[in-house]
Amino acid sequence: MSGKENEYFNDKVGFIELVKCPISQSYCAGHLKKINKSVQLSRGNWISKDYPKAIEELKEAFDQTLKINPSECARCTVVFRLSIIRSMENLYEDLRQMSSGFFRAKRHQSSLKLASEVLQEMRERSQSR
Ligand SMILES: [Zn+2]
Repeated sequence: MSGKENEYFNDKVGFIELVKCPISQSYCAGHLKKINKSVQLSRGNWISKDYPKAIEELKEAFDQTLKINPSECARCTVVFRLSIIRSMENLYEDLRQMSSGFFRAKRHQSSLKLASEVLQEMRERSQSR
């Protein structure tokens, strides 16, 4: 992913910002509001270690991006999806680290599997317009 996309998403704060939207500012902002609601719920669950819920909320956020008409603003559509996928990758990586090595926790195995499946699905769907 290029640096250009990264500036849209502050993963530490847990929301996507609307910057440099080239076309439909209010259209994109309206969709982004719903997306960020799910992204922030996901972040909250992630922090409180409720991983299945965190995954579910990110999936919800991604589903919101599928409601955006790319012909309104192709750039934001792509950026929102990539940001959510990146967050999902981070979550997956967290779970993977907790599930492997010396301190591996078996209880995270099912979350890891779920994260992997959802991530795969997101990647596939982000490519189909
Ligand atoms: Zn836009």
